[in-house]
Amino acid sequence: MEYDYIIVGAGSGGCALASRLADDCPDASIALVEAGPHTNRNLLVNMPVGVAAGAFNSPQLLMCSGVGPAAHLQAHGIEVLHDAPEVGQNLIDHVDFTINKRVSSIEPTGFSVRGIARMVPQFVTFIRHGRGMLSSNVAEAGGFLKSKPTLERPDLQVHFCAALVDDHNRHMHWGHGYSLHVCVLRPFSRGTVTLASADARTAPVIDPRFFSDSRDLDLLVEGVQMARRILDAPSLALHGGRELYTRPGQTDAQLREAIARHADTIYHPVGTCRMGGDAGSVVDPQLRVRGVTGLRIVDASVMPTLIGGNTNAPTVMIGERAAELIAASRRKPQTVTVQATAVAPSGNAA
Ligand SMILES: Cc1cc2nc3c(=O)[nH]c(=O)nc-3n(C[C@H](O)[C@H](O)[C@H](O)COP(=O)(O)OP(=O)(O)OC[C@H]3O[C@@H](n4cnc5c(N)ncnc54)[C@H](O)[C@@H]3O)c2cc1C
Repeated sequence: MEYDYIIVGAGSGGCALASRLADDCPDASIALVEAGPHTNRNLLVNMPVGVAAGAFNSPQLLMCSGVGPAAHLQAHGIEVLHDAPEVGQNLIDHVDFTINKRVSSIEPTGFSVRGIARMVPQFVTFIRHGRGMLSSNVAEAGGFLKSKPTLERPDLQVHFCAALVDDHNRHMHWGHGYSLHVCVLRPFSRGTVTLASADARTAPVIDPRFFSDSRDLDLLVEGVQMARRILDAPSLALHGGRELYTRPGQTDAQLREAIARHADTIYHPVGTCRMGGDAGSVVDPQLRVRGVTGLRIVDASVMPTLIGGNTNAPTVMIGERAAELIAASRRKPQTVTVQATAVAPSGNAA
């Protein structure tokens, strides 16, 4: 079957592009290709209209297809179609540290015999009324902070979770607690996505290089101290608790060491197929891949810098804007009649 448009990646950018394009071009046939266990491994897309595989996989797909830093591609035996040194560079992410507080009460969500017993009626409440503890998304509150009151806009963000969240929940704890994430909103550090293999089914090498610019660690230390002040406010202090990886009163060096060891992503990677008006950028301001015809990147990887907030809504917007650009390029040029109005030298319309 032939399609007018093929979009690779059905995430935020890809779905927004596909649905808006379907609205704007109802006569067009669109294929939306998503990775997964049942993916036909022999599927070869010759020329998709949009790659929307996200900040890690879009640069990987470009590189596997011959668009990327020439020396790196050659090292993997890939024929270079277009030398694009910035593909996979400029990885930016919100680096985040979580203050976890373990408590002796069973009030927050957690694992204990009493806690599990308490969940049984909660389960019934949720099934019957859609309410109660199980209706919580756990990350129940958030906010933006200025590390200095003189700043024009916030430089830190906090997310509060009514449970212990350690290492993205890979490290589960027996017991109960709550946590406060704090992240750096406009980090200076830049990481990379490079190929581990020429085979696109092998995961790429992701190196966020968090804290490669020491200003990010300095700010996160300030953020953690501010987050502690929030946790010490009377309404939260009454829940008490003991911090898992940090301690009040520890030295600055100890705090920095704990943050550097446990800080990690809060899932907002961008920038690896940077959009720009300059020749070095990966995509132009219309999201077209430089050096390739008929191909756009439509996901968070095109963001040249990281926004000071969550990245999903801006990515959806990128998808919608890409649909507009593609639909406009599809339309035939029309003759437009412009009514001319003569303007008198004084500036008054004649
Ligand atoms: C755990 C988590 C929580 C988050 N929470 C929030 C939040 O609360 N608020 C917020 O604003 N943002 C949140 N984000 C960030 C947000 O999800 C991303 O910014 C957004 O999804 C980026 O969209 P994208 O289109 O660039 O990439 P994605 O949405 O990741 O889409 C990429 C898609 O491409 C597919 N793909 C990859 N390789 C291939 C291939 N070779 N062939 C076919 N398909 C492929 C992937 O399977 C995926 O579906 C969260 C992210 C994570 C991971």
